Amino acid sequence: MNTSLADLARYQQKTWHLKGISALLGWDAKTYMPTAGIAGRSQQLPLIEGLIHERITSADYRKLLEKLINLESGEIRDTSLSEREQRLLKESLRDYRLAMALPNEFVLEMAETASKAEHAWSEAREKNDYSIFRPYLEKIIGLCKKKAGYLALGATPYDSLLNAYEPGANTVDLNRVFDELKTETIQLISKLPEAKPVPAFLKAKYNEQKQLDIAHDLMKEMGAPEENIRLDLTAHPFCTTIHCRDVRITTRFDGIADCQLTILHETGHALYELGLPEEWYGTPLCEAVSMGIHESESRFWEVFIGKNRAFWQKQFPIMQAAFPRQLKNVTPDSFYDAINVLQPSMIRVRADELTYNLHIIIRYELEQAMINGTIDVGALPELWNDKYEKYLGIRPKNFSEGILQDIHWSFGDIGYFPTYTLGNLYAAHWWEQIQKDVPDVEGLIREHNFAPILKWHREKIHCHGRAKTGAELVKSITGSGLSPKPLIRFLREKVSQLK
Ligand code: MG
Repeated sequence: MNTSLADLARYQQKTWHLKGISALLGWDAKTYMPTAGIAGRSQQLPLIEGLIHERITSADYRKLLEKLINLESGEIRDTSLSEREQRLLKESLRDYRLAMALPNEFVLEMAETASKAEHAWSEAREKNDYSIFRPYLEKIIGLCKKKAGYLALGATPYDSLLNAYEPGANTVDLNRVFDELKTETIQLISKLPEAKPVPAFLKAKYNEQKQLDIAHDLMKEMGAPEENIRLDLTAHPFCTTIHCRDVRITTRFDGIADCQLTILHETGHALYELGLPEEWYGTPLCEAVSMGIHESESRFWEVFIGKNRAFWQKQFPIMQAAFPRQLKNVTPDSFYDAINVLQPSMIRVRADELTYNLHIIIRYELEQAMINGTIDVGALPELWNDKYEKYLGIRPKNFSEGILQDIHWSFGDIGYFPTYTLGNLYAAHWWEQIQKDVPDVEGLIREHNFAPILKWHREKIHCHGRAKTGAELVKSITGSGLSPKPLIRFLREKVSQLK
């Protein structure tokens, strides 16, 4: 590595250490911090975030970058650099431009508005009163339109916002893919059998320590080394990275299957973080490609492995041995059938893998209308409810289970929702491809022999860091572009097997 590049990487590494500290403070706040700790934490976190922002927009950093790449044209000065090194510079420039794009006063205004909006959203949801949130949402939309203008990353304002979460994504492609998925999903919903009553064992109480023991064993089976990963408990599970060798995940006890599916999901995120190329630590090459690709790694394990009948052939007897009383008269197949129910429901985070994407597509369509168009924010709840009725066949009875169910818009996170469905679409591509590349994947899942499956993800996805975009990964792995077909094929088969 030439000295200028080594200097740049060293600088970036220090910035990353600050990000790790920030992540650790955030993790602690959500897990172990005593409640009164918030007084200090609410000042410590912005301080660290401010230091990070100072470092990535500083004159020193600019000089380091400028030695290697023309900041205006993006031209790399030393063309003898390897392809990876050139990619490192291009990604660094993208990050630098994004950090510089937003004026300080704008960032402050957004942060202030978001913190008030979050509070208002919380009150509005509790009181089931949209009018409390409405003025804040109006302000957030206005600010997001401004943000899109500053970022200037796409053909439309919404494209710009989307691109900040999913580099290279655009609404022309996404509209085509999402429309096909939507039409197909609506048809599949019409073929669903009637909902059956929830069996007693799904509502039973299960010893939490025993569930945690099973969770730890499962994480080990998946290939997550104990020395690199911690599991804790939170109401809203998440995964966060302190360092490329130190990742934290959380789960909750919300039904016996939910806990384990959450473990599969969050460990999927963790394995991705742990599989990034450590030799590039601190640089964009040791970072995840995008929100969508990150989600594809978690959804691959949760949906394509955890919702696979073969997985429970081995997992169910483990649980039955741990919980003989609750699972006495249950078989692996009846257990699988009980957790594999597909039904339209009101709440996104509770949705199954078939209907989930419709929840996302509704938000995606409304977001586009809000950002590119001239939507009346007052009419938003009705538009929301109409779409639920049209796509899912159900209509929210109140604001809290409708327009007010998600916190994201109050943060100003517009353009983020579609990455969830992108994650599902990518994961379905990986699922079809791994069956071509690795012999007898179902057999491996039946035996919980996950090493060859993880190896595939390591070699095809993790090792690249940000050296490839999501679209480039799909192309290099499958030979063609992003398509809704693999996910549609998977969902069709799933529906056809329902009893
Ligand atoms: Mg996730």
